[in-house]
Amino acid sequence: MKAVFIEQPYKVKFINAPEPVIKNPDEVKIHIAFTGICGSEVHAYKGTHPTRLPPIISGHESSGVISEIGCAVKDFKVGDRVIIEPQKACGKCPDCLRGDYNVCPEKAVLGTIKWQGSFGEYIVAPERSVLHLPDCIPMEEGALAEPLAVAAHAVRISSVGLGRSVLIQGCGPIGISLLAMCRRAGAGKIIMTDVSLYNMDAAKLMGADVLINAQKQDVVKEVLTETGGAGAEVVFMAIGNAEILDQAVQCTRRYGQIMEVAHFGSEPPFDARNYRWKELAMQGSYMFVRKDFEIVIAALASGQINVKPMISKILPVEDCAAVMKMAHDRSEDFVKILFQF
Ligand SMILES: [Zn+2]
Ligand SMILES: [Zn+2]
Repeated sequence: MKAVFIEQPYKVKFINAPEPVIKNPDEVKIHIAFTGICGSEVHAYKGTHPTRLPPIISGHESSGVISEIGCAVKDFKVGDRVIIEPQKACGKCPDCLRGDYNVCPEKAVLGTIKWQGSFGEYIVAPERSVLHLPDCIPMEEGALAEPLAVAAHAVRISSVGLGRSVLIQGCGPIGISLLAMCRRAGAGKIIMTDVSLYNMDAAKLMGADVLINAQKQDVVKEVLTETGGAGAEVVFMAIGNAEILDQAVQCTRRYGQIMEVAHFGSEPPFDARNYRWKELAMQGSYMFVRKDFEIVIAALASGQINVKPMISKILPVEDCAAVMKMAHDRSEDFVKILFQF
């Protein structure tokens, strides 16, 4: 099968790899149609991701078609269009038994050393990690379900609701997915920040009310002005820069909530005094559960969210060496790049 192989840091090859095989009766084999490049795969490319370590076939944001089923599979047949929830948990620990299997300490994530990913033309997954993709949702939009599910989960466990003011730090795929889900949840004014004009334009197209250029404008001052001096009721951190946390504390209204969705490479400093004086709440959000994918599928199928502005480029998997370098160097503008098989 065709595969994007990260052989060692900064060295990617297009290869012909052996196909993964079904080993358990509840597993399905999926022919991948589209797979997105996530920030975590750029970390894999650099060799700095803890579980996506080269040599590896990574990849976890994907859509495809069932090509084979195990003997005990109930809900799928060959030819079904599907998306993949890229995690499989142990099912036995207290977190799993409570239903919070996204925080299971034993779980495997697709595209890591534990589970070969969708940068290969075929993957094998247990049917509990697979969802039907309705015919009305194009395959390429199906590949965006994963970042959208990250956002659905974060918004669902946040206090965002009708008319609430929101600040989203970062207009990357997660920031923009958060925008879509906050809108769907009835948020009021949505303010977003970034330094890339291209990403800010995509956020504007997707319905952001106010865009702040963090390179040219004073983010805290602008957010306070836009919220009548109070600050935003809910702030989502969707970019892992060290200065973001203190900026979030300054931009959140008294008794407001900070949602931590970003991946920080190092520990960010922040002013704990201000955090206390404002009586803020902070909530982490990690990946998703099946329910979040169901929310995303329903939103896409009903046309309530339009994710087309997020898809910047669809490129052939054969060009993976140049594409991964471009994604790392950011030599071209993009929100989301998809590989096509
Ligand atoms: Zn991802
Ligand atoms: Zn578990």
